Amino acid sequence: MPCHVVVLPQAAGHSADHQMARSLAGATQDEVRQHNLASVLRLVHLRGSLSRSEISAATGLNRSTVGALISNLAASGLVFEHQPEDRTVGRPSHVVAITDGRVYVIAVNVAVERTEVALVEMGGNIRARAIVEHPDGDTPENVAHNIKKLARSLQSSLPKRAVCVGVGIAIPGVVRHVDGFVQVAPNLEWQGIAFGKLVAKKLKTSLSVAVANDADLAALAEHARGSSTEFTHVVTIRGDVGVGGGLIIDGRLMSGAGGYGGEVGHMTVDPAGLTCRCGGRGCWETTVGEAAVCSALGLSSPAELVRPIADTPENRMRLEPVGRWFGIGLANIVNILNPEAVVVAGLLADVFPLTQEVTLEELDRAIDAAREQLTVRIAKLGSNAVIIGAAEIAFASLLEDPLGHLAAIAEAS
Ligand SMILES: [Zn+2]
Repeated sequence: MPCHVVVLPQAAGHSADHQMARSLAGATQDEVRQHNLASVLRLVHLRGSLSRSEISAATGLNRSTVGALISNLAASGLVFEHQPEDRTVGRPSHVVAITDGRVYVIAVNVAVERTEVALVEMGGNIRARAIVEHPDGDTPENVAHNIKKLARSLQSSLPKRAVCVGVGIAIPGVVRHVDGFVQVAPNLEWQGIAFGKLVAKKLKTSLSVAVANDADLAALAEHARGSSTEFTHVVTIRGDVGVGGGLIIDGRLMSGAGGYGGEVGHMTVDPAGLTCRCGGRGCWETTVGEAAVCSALGLSSPAELVRPIADTPENRMRLEPVGRWFGIGLANIVNILNPEAVVVAGLLADVFPLTQEVTLEELDRAIDAAREQLTVRIAKLGSNAVIIGAAEIAFASLLEDPLGHLAAIAEAS
């Protein structure tokens, strides 16, 4: 089977279900069947247990087609049908659900100070996880070694029939999606590392190892399972040490020609402002990032920051400038991208409820028509967003061609 080929999947929002299931003009019967199997599996993976009629309504496929597709997926062990416990009197409506413990992925979040490895089942359940700390950063070789060690230890607790169907890794840097090549990860001090290949070698797997930027994956996760599932144009703004953006445009992640896109934190908002980590001056990050929040709260170091930030009149007053800068930056983004939703995540999700009034006041700088279409949401997945996003890209190959991918794994083992 082909190794290391990674296609970053379409962000799998529920809004796209119907479109995905349409038969493809010019496709062979087998291709249409594969596409429809993928649509049904993706739907149950993202939404959980569904009846045949709900699947039929969501995909636009007729009930007999849906029945045949479910039989195929059930024969492979990926899903099963059961009668809901709370069914009302009358003809029972079977419910299709993901089979527990049948397939899973290895999802990894490589952060500056630690690496987290999780086993995530179809349906998004995090079955097990482990963390190794590396406070002063670590080399790619050591991080890959730790990933193997943690994954092997977690896998030892799984039932024998469980099959690993993918590996997905989040990196705080710029990544070439097609082969998991890390172009640059400044905070890890990595440059030009074929990390996907390195991890595949360590794990001795023929599975593709998908690697992507952590902010992109958090945005993908919020869109797939979190606060913005019903939208197709979503901007996720994640504020922590830095401020990152994940842009989902027309249902797809947008990262630009070289993968450098979405760096909303480095948009200049105050040319006379503070120097930024990127070397620029007055970037948005210098006004709404962790350092700005700590400084506004009168803290001398981020270590003193207690989260969630207490909602007191004093904190509201202190954070007002941060809230205003946040609204000014958002207005720029809204004017350029006209998103349906902005999802606020990380430290900014702590700040926004305290500064909402002034932030929305500044947001009114945006063009009326674009402003009126906008909803602002707080992220739902919290600190799990990145690992869930990493799991979603790891499931991409299975969700593209469920039976073909399982057959390829069986052949390779
Ligand atoms: Zn900057």
